[in-house]
Amino acid sequence: MQQKLRLYNTLSRQKEEFTPLNPPFVGMYVCGPTVYSNVHLGNVRTFTSFDVLFRYLKHLDYKVRYVRNITDVGHLVDDADDGEDKIGKKARLENLEPMEIVQRYTNDFHFVMHQLNNLPPSIEPTATGHLMEQIHMIKILIEKDMAYEVNGSVYFNVRKYHEKYGYGKLSGRNIDDLIAGSRSLDGQDEKKDSLDFALWKKATGGHIMRWDAPWSEGFPGWHLECSVMSHKYLGKTFDIHGGGMDLQFPHHECEIAQGKATHDENPVRYWLHTNMLTVNGQKMSKSLGNSILPNQLFSGQHELLDKPYSPMSLRFAMLQAHYRSTMDISNDALTAASKAYKKLMNGLRIARELTYDESLTVDKNEKAIKQINSIADSIYRGLNDDLNTAVAIAGLFNMQKKLNTIQLGQLQTEALDKATFDRMKKVFIEIPRDVLGLLEEKPDNFEYALDLILEDYKAAKSIKDYNKVDHIRAKLKQMGLSVKDMKHKIEWAYEE
Ligand code: AMP
Ligand code: ZN
Repeated sequence: MQQKLRLYNTLSRQKEEFTPLNPPFVGMYVCGPTVYSNVHLGNVRTFTSFDVLFRYLKHLDYKVRYVRNITDVGHLVDDADDGEDKIGKKARLENLEPMEIVQRYTNDFHFVMHQLNNLPPSIEPTATGHLMEQIHMIKILIEKDMAYEVNGSVYFNVRKYHEKYGYGKLSGRNIDDLIAGSRSLDGQDEKKDSLDFALWKKATGGHIMRWDAPWSEGFPGWHLECSVMSHKYLGKTFDIHGGGMDLQFPHHECEIAQGKATHDENPVRYWLHTNMLTVNGQKMSKSLGNSILPNQLFSGQHELLDKPYSPMSLRFAMLQAHYRSTMDISNDALTAASKAYKKLMNGLRIARELTYDESLTVDKNEKAIKQINSIADSIYRGLNDDLNTAVAIAGLFNMQKKLNTIQLGQLQTEALDKATFDRMKKVFIEIPRDVLGLLEEKPDNFEYALDLILEDYKAAKSIKDYNKVDHIRAKLKQMGLSVKDMKHKIEWAYEE
Protein backbone atom coordinates (compact mmCIF):
# COMPACT_ATOMS: atom_id res chain seq x y z
CA MET A 1 0.00 0.00 0.00
CA GLN A 2 1.91 2.92 1.42
CA GLN A 3 1.03 5.98 -0.52
CA LYS A 4 3.36 8.94 -0.28
CA LEU A 5 3.39 11.72 2.25
CA ARG A 6 1.38 14.72 1.10
CA LEU A 7 1.74 18.12 2.74
CA TYR A 8 -0.37 21.23 2.42
CA ASN A 9 1.81 23.88 0.84
CA THR A 10 0.69 27.39 1.77
CA LEU A 11 2.30 28.70 -1.41
CA SER A 12 0.26 26.57 -3.82
CA ARG A 13 -2.74 26.37 -1.45
CA GLN A 14 -3.05 22.63 -1.94
CA LYS A 15 -1.75 19.32 -0.71
CA GLU A 16 1.28 18.19 -2.67
CA GLU A 17 3.21 14.96 -2.67
CA PHE A 18 6.38 15.52 -0.69
CA THR A 19 9.45 14.90 -2.83
CA PRO A 20 12.67 16.25 -1.35
CA LEU A 21 15.20 18.01 -3.54
CA ASN A 22 18.00 15.57 -2.70
CA PRO A 23 16.51 12.41 -1.24
CA PRO A 24 17.11 10.93 1.28
CA PHE A 25 18.16 14.33 2.65
CA VAL A 26 15.55 16.81 3.81
CA GLY A 27 16.25 20.40 4.83
CA MET A 28 13.72 21.89 7.22
CA TYR A 29 13.73 25.34 8.80
CA VAL A 30 11.33 26.49 11.51
CA CYS A 31 11.24 30.03 12.87
CA GLY A 32 12.18 29.74 16.53
CA PRO A 33 11.08 31.83 19.50
CA THR A 34 11.97 35.42 20.21
CA VAL A 35 13.56 34.90 23.60
CA TYR A 36 12.28 37.88 25.59
CA SER A 37 9.64 36.01 27.61
CA ASN A 38 8.54 32.52 28.60
CA VAL A 39 7.05 30.47 25.79
CA HIS A 40 3.27 30.05 26.12
CA LEU A 41 1.09 27.13 25.10
CA GLY A 42 0.48 28.65 21.66
CA ASN A 43 4.20 28.70 20.89
CA VAL A 44 4.45 25.16 22.24
CA ARG A 45 1.73 24.00 19.87
CA THR A 46 3.60 25.24 16.82
CA PHE A 47 6.93 23.73 17.87
CA THR A 48 5.28 20.43 18.81
CA SER A 49 3.60 20.20 15.40
CA PHE A 50 6.95 20.58 13.66
CA ASP A 51 8.50 18.11 16.08
CA VAL A 52 5.97 15.51 14.88
CA LEU A 53 6.83 16.32 11.25
CA PHE A 54 10.57 15.97 12.04
CA ARG A 55 9.89 12.66 13.77
CA TYR A 56 7.69 11.34 10.98
CA LEU A 57 10.19 12.24 8.26
CA LYS A 58 12.85 10.37 10.23
CA HIS A 59 10.46 7.45 10.67
CA LEU A 60 10.15 7.40 6.87
CA ASP A 61 13.96 7.08 6.77
CA TYR A 62 14.72 10.55 5.52
CA LYS A 63 17.93 12.15 6.80
CA VAL A 64 16.60 15.41 8.12
CA ARG A 65 18.60 18.52 8.89
CA TYR A 66 16.24 20.43 11.11
CA VAL A 67 17.24 24.05 11.74
CA ARG A 68 15.28 26.03 14.33
CA ASN A 69 16.69 29.43 15.16
CA ILE A 70 16.65 31.56 18.27
CA THR A 71 15.67 35.19 17.63
CA ASP A 72 17.87 37.15 20.00
CA VAL A 73 17.92 40.53 18.27
CA GLY A 74 16.02 42.62 15.76
CA HIS A 75 12.41 41.69 16.61
CA LEU A 76 10.91 45.05 17.49
CA VAL A 77 7.92 45.68 19.72
CA ASP A 78 4.69 45.51 17.64
CA ASP A 79 6.58 43.60 14.91
CA ALA A 80 7.15 46.96 13.25
CA ASP A 81 10.23 48.62 11.80
CA ASP A 82 10.38 51.28 14.46
CA GLY A 83 10.48 51.18 18.20
CA GLU A 84 12.33 49.24 20.81
CA ASP A 85 13.83 45.79 20.43
CA LYS A 86 11.74 43.28 22.46
CA ILE A 87 14.84 41.92 24.17
CA GLY A 88 16.43 45.33 24.62
CA LYS A 89 13.24 46.62 26.24
CA LYS A 90 13.08 43.75 28.71
CA ALA A 91 16.78 44.22 29.53
CA ARG A 92 16.21 47.91 30.17
CA LEU A 93 13.19 47.28 32.40
CA GLU A 94 15.00 44.65 34.46
CA ASN A 95 18.34 46.42 34.38
CA LEU A 96 20.03 43.36 32.90
CA GLU A 97 22.44 42.69 30.07
CA PRO A 98 20.37 41.73 26.98
CA MET A 99 22.24 38.43 26.76
CA GLU A 100 21.04 37.58 30.27
CA ILE A 101 17.49 37.93 29.02
CA VAL A 102 18.33 35.84 25.97
CA GLN A 103 19.93 33.11 28.08
CA ARG A 104 17.11 33.02 30.63
CA TYR A 105 14.36 32.54 28.06
CA THR A 106 16.40 30.24 25.86
CA ASN A 107 16.84 28.02 28.91
CA ASP A 108 13.11 28.19 29.61
CA PHE A 109 12.35 27.29 26.01
CA HIS A 110 14.71 24.30 26.06
CA PHE A 111 13.28 23.10 29.35
CA VAL A 112 9.71 23.26 28.04
CA MET A 113 10.69 21.51 24.80
CA HIS A 114 12.23 18.75 26.90
CA GLN A 115 9.15 18.46 29.14
CA LEU A 116 7.01 18.02 26.04
CA ASN A 117 9.51 15.48 24.64
CA ASN A 118 10.24 17.60 21.57
CA LEU A 119 13.51 16.55 19.98
CA PRO A 120 16.29 19.12 19.78
CA PRO A 121 16.83 20.42 16.26
CA SER A 122 19.97 19.48 14.33
CA ILE A 123 21.17 23.10 14.40
CA GLU A 124 19.94 25.95 16.59
CA PRO A 125 21.57 29.12 15.25
CA THR A 126 21.12 32.56 16.77
CA ALA A 127 20.65 35.86 14.97
CA THR A 128 23.47 37.54 16.95
CA GLY A 129 25.79 34.70 15.95
CA HIS A 130 25.24 35.54 12.27
CA LEU A 131 25.80 39.29 12.06
CA MET A 132 28.58 39.00 9.46
CA GLU A 133 26.38 36.92 7.19
CA GLN A 134 23.50 39.36 7.59
CA ILE A 135 25.70 42.31 6.70
CA HIS A 136 26.94 40.34 3.69
CA MET A 137 23.41 39.69 2.42
CA ILE A 138 22.51 43.37 2.78
CA LYS A 139 25.56 44.29 0.67
CA ILE A 140 24.40 41.93 -2.08
CA LEU A 141 20.88 43.37 -1.98
CA ILE A 142 22.24 46.91 -2.28
CA GLU A 143 24.50 45.84 -5.17
CA LYS A 144 21.50 44.32 -6.90
CA ASP A 145 19.62 47.56 -6.39
CA MET A 146 16.96 45.78 -4.33
CA ALA A 147 17.81 47.77 -1.20
CA TYR A 148 18.78 51.34 -0.41
CA GLU A 149 20.40 53.22 2.43
CA VAL A 150 18.91 56.25 4.17
CA ASN A 151 20.56 57.93 7.19
CA GLY A 152 22.50 54.80 8.15
CA SER A 153 19.52 52.44 7.84
CA VAL A 154 18.94 50.09 4.91
CA TYR A 155 15.52 49.15 3.52
CA PHE A 156 14.34 46.52 1.08
CA ASN A 157 12.70 48.03 -1.99
CA VAL A 158 9.44 46.10 -2.25
CA ARG A 159 8.13 47.78 -5.42
CA LYS A 160 11.33 47.13 -7.31
CA TYR A 161 11.25 43.54 -6.20
CA HIS A 162 7.61 43.25 -7.18
CA GLU A 163 8.32 44.46 -10.71
CA LYS A 164 10.86 41.70 -11.22
CA TYR A 165 9.49 38.77 -9.21
CA GLY A 166 6.04 39.55 -7.83
CA TYR A 167 5.48 40.18 -4.12
CA GLY A 168 2.71 38.74 -1.95
CA LYS A 169 2.29 35.23 -3.40
CA LEU A 170 2.60 33.36 -0.11
CA SER A 171 0.05 35.37 1.82
CA GLY A 172 -2.13 35.87 -1.24
CA ARG A 173 -1.97 39.62 -0.85
CA ASN A 174 -2.27 41.84 -3.79
CA ILE A 175 0.35 44.56 -3.79
CA ASP A 176 -2.15 47.22 -4.88
CA ASP A 177 -4.36 46.37 -1.89
CA LEU A 178 -1.31 46.48 0.33
CA ILE A 179 -0.42 49.90 -0.97
CA ALA A 180 -3.99 51.11 -0.45
CA GLY A 181 -4.02 49.69 3.08
CA SER A 182 -0.64 50.98 4.15
CA ARG A 183 -0.30 54.30 5.88
CA SER A 184 0.95 57.07 3.66
CA LEU A 185 4.36 58.50 4.37
CA ASP A 186 4.18 61.82 6.07
CA GLY A 187 7.72 62.88 5.32
CA GLN A 188 8.85 61.83 8.79
CA ASP A 189 9.51 58.28 7.69
CA GLU A 190 12.85 57.71 5.98
CA LYS A 191 11.55 54.79 3.90
CA LYS A 192 10.81 55.58 0.27
CA ASP A 193 7.66 53.52 0.49
CA SER A 194 5.64 52.32 3.46
CA LEU A 195 5.75 48.75 2.08
CA ASP A 196 9.54 48.66 2.35
CA PHE A 197 10.99 46.86 5.33
CA ALA A 198 14.19 47.27 7.31
CA LEU A 199 17.27 45.19 6.66
CA TRP A 200 19.49 47.30 8.90
CA LYS A 201 18.51 49.96 11.40
CA LYS A 202 20.76 52.66 12.74
CA ALA A 203 20.74 52.49 16.54
CA THR A 204 19.46 55.66 18.09
CA GLY A 205 20.18 56.93 21.61
CA GLY A 206 18.62 54.36 23.93
CA HIS A 207 19.11 51.29 21.78
CA ILE A 208 21.29 48.87 23.75
CA MET A 209 21.99 46.16 21.17
CA ARG A 210 24.23 47.51 18.40
CA TRP A 211 26.96 46.36 16.04
CA ASP A 212 29.31 48.03 13.58
CA ALA A 213 28.27 47.88 9.94
CA PRO A 214 29.26 49.85 6.80
CA TRP A 215 26.09 51.95 7.09
CA SER A 216 25.99 52.71 10.81
CA GLU A 217 26.28 51.28 14.26
CA GLY A 218 22.98 49.46 14.44
CA PHE A 219 21.17 46.16 14.31
CA PRO A 220 19.59 43.87 11.70
CA GLY A 221 15.92 43.80 10.72
CA TRP A 222 13.89 40.85 12.03
CA HIS A 223 13.19 39.12 8.69
CA LEU A 224 16.81 39.02 7.60
CA GLU A 225 18.13 36.49 10.11
CA CYS A 226 15.94 33.63 8.86
CA SER A 227 16.96 34.18 5.23
CA VAL A 228 20.60 34.23 6.21
CA MET A 229 20.59 31.24 8.53
CA SER A 230 18.41 29.03 6.35
CA HIS A 231 20.70 29.80 3.39
CA LYS A 232 23.85 29.11 5.40
CA TYR A 233 22.73 25.73 6.73
CA LEU A 234 20.28 24.49 4.09
CA GLY A 235 21.28 26.20 0.84
CA LYS A 236 19.69 28.63 -1.61
CA THR A 237 16.66 26.39 -2.01
CA PHE A 238 15.56 23.95 0.65
CA ASP A 239 12.61 21.66 1.24
CA ILE A 240 10.44 22.78 4.15
CA HIS A 241 9.96 26.08 5.96
CA GLY A 242 7.55 26.29 8.85
CA GLY A 243 6.10 28.53 11.49
CA GLY A 244 2.79 29.69 12.90
CA MET A 245 0.20 31.17 10.54
CA ASP A 246 0.76 34.60 12.03
CA LEU A 247 4.25 34.59 10.50
CA GLN A 248 2.98 34.24 6.91
CA PHE A 249 2.83 37.98 6.56
CA PRO A 250 4.99 39.94 6.70
CA HIS A 251 7.78 37.70 8.06
CA HIS A 252 7.73 34.84 5.56
CA GLU A 253 6.70 37.01 2.63
CA CYS A 254 9.77 39.15 3.35
CA GLU A 255 11.96 36.06 3.66
CA ILE A 256 10.90 34.94 0.19
CA ALA A 257 11.65 38.39 -1.22
CA GLN A 258 15.09 38.56 0.41
CA GLY A 259 16.06 35.03 -0.66
CA LYS A 260 14.85 35.40 -4.23
CA ALA A 261 16.34 38.84 -4.70
CA THR A 262 19.72 37.65 -3.38
CA HIS A 263 20.01 34.26 -5.08
CA ASP A 264 17.53 34.50 -7.93
CA GLU A 265 15.86 31.32 -6.72
CA ASN A 266 12.80 30.52 -4.65
CA PRO A 267 14.22 29.77 -1.21
CA VAL A 268 11.56 27.29 -0.08
CA ARG A 269 9.73 24.43 -1.79
CA TYR A 270 7.05 23.62 0.84
CA TRP A 271 5.76 26.33 3.14
CA LEU A 272 3.93 24.89 6.15
CA HIS A 273 1.93 26.89 8.67
CA THR A 274 0.30 25.80 11.90
CA ASN A 275 -2.98 27.23 13.03
CA MET A 276 -3.39 29.09 16.28
CA LEU A 277 -4.02 27.83 19.77
CA THR A 278 -6.90 29.84 21.14
CA VAL A 279 -8.40 30.66 24.53
CA ASN A 280 -12.16 31.13 24.40
CA GLY A 281 -11.83 31.50 20.65
CA GLN A 282 -9.15 34.19 20.78
CA LYS A 283 -5.54 33.64 19.69
CA MET A 284 -3.26 33.01 22.67
CA SER A 285 -0.77 35.83 22.65
CA LYS A 286 1.43 37.62 25.09
CA SER A 287 0.27 40.99 23.88
CA LEU A 288 -3.42 40.09 24.37
CA GLY A 289 -2.66 39.05 27.95
CA ASN A 290 -4.34 35.65 27.65
CA SER A 291 -1.21 33.49 27.73
CA ILE A 292 -1.13 30.28 29.71
CA LEU A 293 2.39 29.09 30.46
CA PRO A 294 3.32 25.42 30.46
CA ASN A 295 4.25 25.40 34.14
CA GLN A 296 0.88 26.97 34.99
CA LEU A 297 -0.78 24.09 33.17
CA PHE A 298 1.41 21.43 34.81
CA SER A 299 0.75 22.86 38.28
CA GLY A 300 -2.90 23.81 37.69
CA GLN A 301 -2.08 27.34 38.87
CA HIS A 302 -4.18 29.35 36.47
CA GLU A 303 -7.64 30.84 36.85
CA LEU A 304 -8.92 29.05 33.74
CA LEU A 305 -7.75 25.62 34.88
CA ASP A 306 -9.67 23.28 37.19
CA LYS A 307 -6.68 21.07 37.93
CA PRO A 308 -3.12 20.29 36.81
CA TYR A 309 -2.52 18.49 33.52
CA SER A 310 0.66 16.60 32.73
CA PRO A 311 3.01 17.39 29.83
CA MET A 312 1.94 14.28 27.93
CA SER A 313 -1.76 15.08 28.43
CA LEU A 314 -1.04 18.44 26.81
CA ARG A 315 0.93 16.83 23.99
CA PHE A 316 -1.87 14.33 23.41
CA ALA A 317 -4.49 17.10 23.34
CA MET A 318 -2.44 18.92 20.71
CA LEU A 319 -2.08 15.80 18.59
CA GLN A 320 -5.82 15.21 18.66
CA ALA A 321 -6.31 18.36 16.60
CA HIS A 322 -4.95 18.66 13.08
CA TYR A 323 -2.13 21.19 12.95
CA ARG A 324 -3.99 23.36 10.40
CA SER A 325 -7.12 23.60 12.56
CA THR A 326 -7.44 26.01 15.43
CA MET A 327 -7.36 24.39 18.82
CA ASP A 328 -9.16 25.88 21.79
CA ILE A 329 -7.63 25.07 25.15
CA SER A 330 -10.24 23.95 27.69
CA ASN A 331 -10.57 21.81 30.78
CA ASP A 332 -12.87 19.43 28.93
CA ALA A 333 -10.43 18.90 26.07
CA LEU A 334 -7.49 18.43 28.43
CA THR A 335 -9.36 16.03 30.71
CA ALA A 336 -10.47 13.93 27.75
CA ALA A 337 -6.94 13.97 26.33
CA SER A 338 -5.47 12.93 29.64
CA LYS A 339 -7.83 9.96 29.82
CA ALA A 340 -7.21 8.93 26.23
CA TYR A 341 -3.45 9.23 26.69
CA LYS A 342 -3.57 6.89 29.68
CA LYS A 343 -5.67 4.44 27.73
CA LEU A 344 -3.10 4.42 24.94
CA MET A 345 -0.30 3.88 27.44
CA ASN A 346 -2.19 0.85 28.75
CA GLY A 347 -2.30 -0.45 25.21
CA LEU A 348 1.45 0.08 24.89
CA ARG A 349 2.05 -1.94 28.01
CA ILE A 350 0.03 -4.79 26.53
CA ALA A 351 1.76 -4.53 23.14
CA ARG A 352 5.24 -4.64 24.64
CA GLU A 353 4.48 -7.94 26.39
CA LEU A 354 3.02 -9.73 23.38
CA THR A 355 4.83 -12.85 22.22
CA TYR A 356 4.48 -15.19 19.27
CA ASP A 357 5.41 -18.87 19.37
CA GLU A 358 6.30 -19.97 15.85
CA SER A 359 6.44 -23.62 16.85
CA LEU A 360 2.68 -23.65 17.45
CA THR A 361 0.31 -24.64 14.67
CA VAL A 362 -2.83 -22.61 15.05
CA ASP A 363 -5.61 -22.07 12.49
CA LYS A 364 -5.19 -18.61 11.04
CA ASN A 365 -7.90 -16.04 11.68
CA GLU A 366 -8.07 -14.44 8.25
CA LYS A 367 -10.63 -11.88 9.31
CA ALA A 368 -8.46 -10.59 12.16
CA ILE A 369 -5.39 -10.57 9.88
CA LYS A 370 -7.22 -8.44 7.36
CA GLN A 371 -8.59 -6.09 9.99
CA ILE A 372 -5.24 -5.55 11.66
CA ASN A 373 -3.50 -4.79 8.37
CA SER A 374 -6.22 -2.45 7.33
CA ILE A 375 -5.98 -0.59 10.65
CA ALA A 376 -2.19 -0.27 10.26
CA ASP A 377 -2.78 1.09 6.74
CA SER A 378 -5.27 3.62 8.09
CA ILE A 379 -2.70 4.95 10.58
CA TYR A 380 -0.18 5.61 7.81
CA ARG A 381 -2.89 6.96 5.55
CA GLY A 382 -3.68 9.52 8.25
CA LEU A 383 -0.08 10.55 8.75
CA ASN A 384 0.53 10.72 5.01
CA ASP A 385 -2.50 12.93 4.58
CA ASP A 386 -0.81 16.15 5.65
CA LEU A 387 0.19 14.71 9.00
CA ASN A 388 -3.29 14.02 10.27
CA THR A 389 -2.36 12.90 13.75
CA ALA A 390 -6.04 12.75 14.81
CA VAL A 391 -6.72 10.03 12.23
CA ALA A 392 -3.55 8.18 13.27
CA ILE A 393 -4.66 8.23 16.90
CA ALA A 394 -8.12 6.93 15.98
CA GLY A 395 -6.37 4.07 14.16
CA LEU A 396 -4.24 3.30 17.20
CA PHE A 397 -7.35 2.98 19.34
CA ASN A 398 -8.86 0.60 16.78
CA MET A 399 -5.68 -1.42 16.95
CA GLN A 400 -5.89 -1.36 20.72
CA LYS A 401 -9.28 -3.11 20.55
CA LYS A 402 -7.48 -6.00 18.87
CA LEU A 403 -4.79 -5.98 21.55
CA ASN A 404 -7.51 -6.18 24.17
CA THR A 405 -9.05 -9.23 22.54
CA ILE A 406 -5.61 -10.85 22.64
CA GLN A 407 -5.16 -9.93 26.28
CA LEU A 408 -8.57 -11.35 27.12
CA GLY A 409 -7.63 -14.59 25.39
CA GLN A 410 -10.24 -14.15 22.64
CA LEU A 411 -7.60 -14.01 19.93
CA GLN A 412 -4.39 -15.97 20.02
CA THR A 413 -1.37 -14.17 18.59
CA GLU A 414 -0.47 -17.32 16.67
CA ALA A 415 -3.80 -17.10 14.86
CA LEU A 416 -2.19 -14.19 13.01
CA ASP A 417 0.57 -14.79 10.49
CA LYS A 418 3.96 -13.74 11.84
CA ALA A 419 4.26 -10.74 9.49
CA THR A 420 0.92 -9.32 10.66
CA PHE A 421 1.82 -9.93 14.29
CA ASP A 422 5.16 -8.15 13.85
CA ARG A 423 3.53 -5.28 11.99
CA MET A 424 0.85 -4.83 14.65
CA LYS A 425 3.43 -4.73 17.43
CA LYS A 426 5.80 -2.46 15.52
CA VAL A 427 3.13 0.05 14.51
CA PHE A 428 1.53 0.13 17.93
CA ILE A 429 4.85 0.69 19.69
CA GLU A 430 6.67 2.89 17.18
CA ILE A 431 3.96 5.34 16.14
CA PRO A 432 3.14 6.61 19.66
CA ARG A 433 6.76 6.56 20.83
CA ASP A 434 8.77 7.63 17.78
CA VAL A 435 6.31 9.63 15.68
CA LEU A 436 3.86 11.12 18.17
CA GLY A 437 6.61 11.46 20.78
CA LEU A 438 4.45 10.21 23.65
CA LEU A 439 6.41 9.12 26.69
CA GLU A 440 5.04 6.95 29.46
CA GLU A 441 4.71 9.23 32.47
CA LYS A 442 5.24 7.51 35.78
CA PRO A 443 6.71 8.48 39.14
CA ASP A 444 10.12 7.18 40.21
CA ASN A 445 10.13 3.70 41.73
CA PHE A 446 6.56 3.45 40.67
CA GLU A 447 6.67 -0.11 39.36
CA TYR A 448 8.68 -1.34 42.32
CA ALA A 449 6.19 0.06 44.80
CA LEU A 450 3.29 -1.35 42.84
CA ASP A 451 4.79 -4.83 42.77
CA LEU A 452 4.89 -4.76 46.56
CA ILE A 453 1.27 -3.66 46.76
CA LEU A 454 0.17 -6.34 44.31
CA GLU A 455 1.98 -9.00 46.36
CA ASP A 456 -0.01 -7.87 49.37
CA TYR A 457 -3.15 -7.94 47.28
CA LYS A 458 -2.45 -11.51 46.13
CA ALA A 459 -1.76 -12.66 49.66
CA ALA A 460 -4.99 -11.11 50.92
CA LYS A 461 -6.91 -12.75 48.11
CA SER A 462 -5.43 -16.15 48.77
CA ILE A 463 -6.67 -16.07 52.38
CA LYS A 464 -10.01 -14.55 51.26
CA ASP A 465 -9.42 -11.33 53.22
CA TYR A 466 -11.84 -9.35 51.06
CA ASN A 467 -11.81 -6.28 53.28
CA LYS A 468 -8.14 -5.89 52.57
CA VAL A 469 -8.62 -6.66 48.88
CA ASP A 470 -11.24 -3.91 48.61
CA HIS A 471 -9.13 -1.53 50.63
CA ILE A 472 -6.10 -1.96 48.33
CA ARG A 473 -8.30 -1.57 45.25
CA ALA A 474 -9.81 1.65 46.63
CA LYS A 475 -6.39 3.09 47.49
CA LEU A 476 -5.03 2.30 44.05
CA LYS A 477 -8.08 3.88 42.50
CA GLN A 478 -7.30 7.09 44.35
CA MET A 479 -3.88 6.97 42.72
CA GLY A 480 -5.55 6.64 39.32
CA LEU A 481 -4.81 2.91 38.99
CA SER A 482 -6.86 -0.24 38.85
CA VAL A 483 -6.16 -3.92 39.51
CA LYS A 484 -6.73 -6.43 36.74
CA ASP A 485 -7.56 -9.89 38.05
CA MET A 486 -6.75 -12.27 35.25
CA LYS A 487 -6.81 -16.01 35.12
CA HIS A 488 -3.16 -16.69 35.83
CA LYS A 489 -1.86 -13.37 36.99
CA ILE A 490 -2.73 -10.10 38.61
CA GLU A 491 -1.71 -6.86 36.98
CA TRP A 492 -2.29 -3.15 37.37
CA ALA A 493 -3.48 -0.68 34.77
CA TYR A 494 -4.14 3.05 34.57
CA GLU A 495 -7.71 3.78 35.62
CA GLU A 496 -9.55 4.84 32.46
P1 AMP B 1 7.35 34.24 18.68
O1 AMP B 1 8.29 33.90 19.79
O2 AMP B 1 6.30 35.21 19.07
O3 AMP B 1 8.09 34.66 17.42
O4 AMP B 1 6.53 32.90 18.32
C1 AMP B 1 7.15 31.66 18.14
C2 AMP B 1 6.25 30.77 17.32
O5 AMP B 1 5.01 30.53 17.97
C3 AMP B 1 5.89 31.35 15.95
O6 AMP B 1 5.97 30.31 14.97
C4 AMP B 1 4.46 31.81 16.11
O7 AMP B 1 3.75 31.77 14.90
C5 AMP B 1 3.93 30.75 17.06
N1 AMP B 1 2.74 31.18 17.82
C6 AMP B 1 2.55 32.35 18.48
N2 AMP B 1 1.32 32.38 19.05
C7 AMP B 1 0.72 31.21 18.74
C8 AMP B 1 -0.56 30.64 19.03
N3 AMP B 1 -1.48 31.25 19.77
N4 AMP B 1 -0.84 29.39 18.54
C9 AMP B 1 0.08 28.72 17.79
N5 AMP B 1 1.31 29.21 17.49
C10 AMP B 1 1.63 30.44 17.95
ZN1 ZN C 1 11.76 33.45 10.83
